[in-house]
Amino acid sequence: MLQISQRIRSLAQSQTLAMSQRSAELKAKGVDVINLSVGEPDFHTPEHIKEAAKRAIDDNFSFYSPVPGFMSLRKAIAADLLANNGVEYAPEQIVVSGGAKQALCNVILTCINPGDEVIIPTPAWVSYVEMVKLAEGITVPVPAAIEQDFKITPEQLRAAITPRTRMVLLCSPSNPTGSVYTHTELQGLVDVLKDYPDILILSDEIYQHINYTGSYTSMGSFPEIADRTVIINGVSKAYAMTGWRIGFMAGPLEIAKACSKLQGQYTSGASSIAQKAAEAAYTGPQECVEEMRKAFQRRRDLVVSLANEIPGLKVNVPQGAFYLFPEVSSFFGKRYGDRVINDASDLAMYLLDVAHVATVDGAAFCLPGYIRLSYATSDDNIRCAMDRIARALAQLQ
Ligand code: PMP
Ligand code: GLU
Repeated sequence: MLQISQRIRSLAQSQTLAMSQRSAELKAKGVDVINLSVGEPDFHTPEHIKEAAKRAIDDNFSFYSPVPGFMSLRKAIAADLLANNGVEYAPEQIVVSGGAKQALCNVILTCINPGDEVIIPTPAWVSYVEMVKLAEGITVPVPAAIEQDFKITPEQLRAAITPRTRMVLLCSPSNPTGSVYTHTELQGLVDVLKDYPDILILSDEIYQHINYTGSYTSMGSFPEIADRTVIINGVSKAYAMTGWRIGFMAGPLEIAKACSKLQGQYTSGASSIAQKAAEAAYTGPQECVEEMRKAFQRRRDLVVSLANEIPGLKVNVPQGAFYLFPEVSSFFGKRYGDRVINDASDLAMYLLDVAHVATVDGAAFCLPGYIRLSYATSDDNIRCAMDRIARALAQLQ
């Protein structure tokens, strides 16, 4: 019998990608599914970025790149971090990877020993817990439900810290809730973390530019913890480049070197063509980022107002990213014919089968009782999906 390692058998499948796959299969069978499951911008990559990639092909960027990425790209990222976040990193402190996903996994595998504890505010993006599992670390979830706008307090953070805590993983704007920590709220967390010099802060800032609050604070900008903070970011969301697979870590030099060593053994440098495209993204005109942000904000307003009209959904107003995370427990115990809705997973399946709208069960983000909807789709799709959801939910008795 073929053996699959315990390491991989213990890993859960990515529920965001699984639900998206399921909706694609239904679509292929001719079912008119609206896919609000996977979170990725529906815009095309801006023209000047595509042109840069075409030029890179013609200019023969066809060889292996340096493992941590082209120096020109790392310089462009360093300049962007300084201009946008006021944080200063040398290019040597930056490692470019195959998406923010690989950058995150590199840092976790590089810094976590078996048995180390990683504090993760929940709900949290599907892959964090599984990455910690790969490193044989232990996730310590700190729950923050809708009543606290899905944001943890300094007191909760302090209570979760033990002598085995090695890392705190933050994500703002958040996937799956869209919550954005203010500068003051982050300062509150930093005031706790400054008492624990052995804890590394891993800050996933991939939704930095999809922010409706008008201001953004990077975790890297607090001098008290700057020497042990690692920032994750990339081009996937801000520049509508999910398929190009370019993300990066920026942090202490030893960690950057260790990530580069790890990456050198299992993937080498990221795609050379995609790196040249990313360089154009960071150095080229930035109006495209603002245009897409505005479109997402308009859709946020639309989806929130439509969701507020649906009896039984409890909704917050997301301040960033492109997700809505309504609480749905009022539907538990209800039925549609023989079908009983016991939890959010049943509800997500019901919405897929009956409303033909794909969403994701909140349990995939470590908070049962909720579902996640991505509104990174057209206004028409949002209107139609919310109408279908409203009608399907009204049929539950
Ligand atoms: N972090 C979060 C919170 C995300 O939502 C995503 C997108 N799935 C990633 C990281 C990974 O982004 P990338 O496409 O750059 O790998
Ligand atoms: N950010 C997306 C999501 O959460 C991408 C899918 C993934 O990589 O998980 O849906």
